[in-house]
This record gives sequence, structure tokens and C-alpha cells, in this order.
Amino acid sequence: MVKELQVSTNKRYQLVDLTEQVEGIVSQSGIDSGIAIVFVPHSTAGILLTENEQGLIQDWLNLFKKITSGINFAHNKIDDNADSHLLSGLVGQGKTLVIEDGRLIRGTWQQIFLAEFDGPRQRRILIKIIKG
Ligand code: ZN
Repeated sequence: MVKELQVSTNKRYQLVDLTEQVEGIVSQSGIDSGIAIVFVPHSTAGILLTENEQGLIQDWLNLFKKITSGINFAHNKIDDNADSHLLSGLVGQGKTLVIEDGRLIRGTWQQIFLAEFDGPRQRRILIKIIKG
């Protein structure tokens, strides 16, 4: 089965916690053991596993800005979002999580985030659950 979440972002760079929604989908699936793939079908967004702590969220946003500052991007000659594509590739556009006993296995400080790099936009997040 594949489920879809829709998220509207309101900043250029933004982290949106999807953990509760993804866990709800896993729970509704009724699957006891398997994997969940969380994927964004977008080339300027990503999926990031990190702690939902305000200071750390700010640190991530500062890091994203710093590592893409002061570079003369070739892609910006046709489309002003080279930073967005590069950060999306670096963070990755999907993550795979293990389901056991009907629940996602994840660390206490390992929440599931949509990473927006070219907002504001409407984003789709696909959750594919495979039994096994
Ligand atoms: Zn582009």
C-alpha cells in the first residue's frame, strides 16, 4: 500500500515534523512486521531524521544556509534554486524505516521531518509500506 501526505510549507528553508502522521499510517496499515519507505517526489525537498528540538532545528537551518552561501551556482542562470536542489540531494529524498510489532523502530531523538529547501510550496510525501 502507498499513502500520501500533503504539507504546505511557508518558508524557503523549513523542517516539518511528520512523525505522528507517519506513525498513524503505519498503525492504520495493520502490518506487524515490514518496512516503511518515506519519500518525497520532489528535487528541492528531502526527508531528514533528527531530534525535534528548537535549537537543533535552528542549527540545521543555519547549516543549510552556510554550506550553500558564497557559491556562484551555474543552475541559477536558468532557475534561482541551485541551493535547493543540492541540499535535497545531500539530505536525501527518502528514508527507509523498519516496522516491528506494528510500530516503527526509531531512536527516542529520531523524528521524521520533511526538509523544505524551496518553499513556500505544497509538498507530497509518499509512505510505502511493505510487509515482510
Ligand atoms: Zn531548479
